[in-house]
Amino acid sequence: MIKASAYAGFDKSSPLAPFNFERRDPGPRDVQFDILYCGVCHSDLHTVRSEWPGTVYPCVPGHEIVGRVTKVGSAVKGFKEGDLAAVGCMVDSCGTCPSCKGGLEQYCDNGDITFTYNGPDKHKTAPVTYGGYSSVLVVDEKFCFRVSEKLNLAAVAPLLCAGITTYSPLRHWGATKGKKVGIVGLGGLGHMGVKFSHAFGAHTVLFTTSPGKEADAKRIGADEVVISKDPDAMAKHIGSFDIILDTVAASHDLDAYTSLLKRDGTLILVGAPEHPHPSPAVFNLIFRRRCIAGSLIGGTTETQEMLDFCAEHNIVSDIEIIPIQKIDEAYARMLKSDVKYRFVIDMASLKS
Ligand code: NAP
Ligand code: ZN
Repeated sequence: MIKASAYAGFDKSSPLAPFNFERRDPGPRDVQFDILYCGVCHSDLHTVRSEWPGTVYPCVPGHEIVGRVTKVGSAVKGFKEGDLAAVGCMVDSCGTCPSCKGGLEQYCDNGDITFTYNGPDKHKTAPVTYGGYSSVLVVDEKFCFRVSEKLNLAAVAPLLCAGITTYSPLRHWGATKGKKVGIVGLGGLGHMGVKFSHAFGAHTVLFTTSPGKEADAKRIGADEVVISKDPDAMAKHIGSFDIILDTVAASHDLDAYTSLLKRDGTLILVGAPEHPHPSPAVFNLIFRRRCIAGSLIGGTTETQEMLDFCAEHNIVSDIEIIPIQKIDEAYARMLKSDVKYRFVIDMASLKS
């Protein structure tokens, strides 16, 4: 067994604290790597504070993980010692259903997906999986991704969740040149949504509750910025969007956005707040055949495609590096929408 050091939540309200545990020795298909950086997703906060059901403590969050390979199993083909490696939100799935076979493991038809943290551990090394706020990871090669050496590695980490969670729906619903795309919320997910929508050639409009983020939004690719609390500014966009991608982490009124869609336009929800959104108005939907949809992270095939796209187009996250000891401060700032635009933990700090 491999000794791992980490930070964990021990209940829903105490600060995260040091925690030691063991990972399995790598099997034939496993890659073992030292974690160098891990992004801080709002889902980590939802989970560690039991805002979603089912948190098992101790809880080691973290699913935006990058590092360097130290060992590979005998059957591993794509990685060798010394390579960069990355892991996102999943570490296993049934592998046999149509979704898994199609590279869409996040939608496993048997519901047998193992999330990187707080998922039942198939290898029985612990009650649940432990995530990336830790020193080392062992993972099946299928859920391990290749990373370009030419990008800033710390800024690559958030691509593994914030990146793929916005890339996947924008690709699926066809954000391209000639389309008008809205991104709601300039946080971790939202800022990647703006970058991808812009890179795909769509006319990109950011909706924000924070007037202070306007200049940054334009710098990273927004063509227009709308302060969502200003009804007059919102009214100028009624009936004009093909796609709106909503990344907001808190419950809010959806009608403000469905009314901005064109006929057949789609509001895609990726934010997963603790409390449900108020039920949307039916008439807003039926009169223009508008849709409300949802999307969950992205599968293994598309995650590698997204990482390769980012390497080709020089896209990374805008980050603020923190030591692990500042994780609770980072959560507090995240709740105030005060993140520019993703915290990334430097895992070397675990040793200090
Ligand atoms: P984040 O960095 O905290 O960003 C959320 C942004 O939403 C904030 O920066 C803020 O942007 C806006 N916002 C926050 N509170 C708001 C409120 N009360 N009203 C309106 N806007 C508000 O969070 P994140 O890491 O991007 O995650 C966003 C959500 O997506 C979380 O719920 C997370 O769990 C979920 N998520 C879902 C998936 C999936 O697969 N579907 C994957 C990862 C994360 P402005 O300041 O610009 O308004
Ligand atoms: Zn995430």
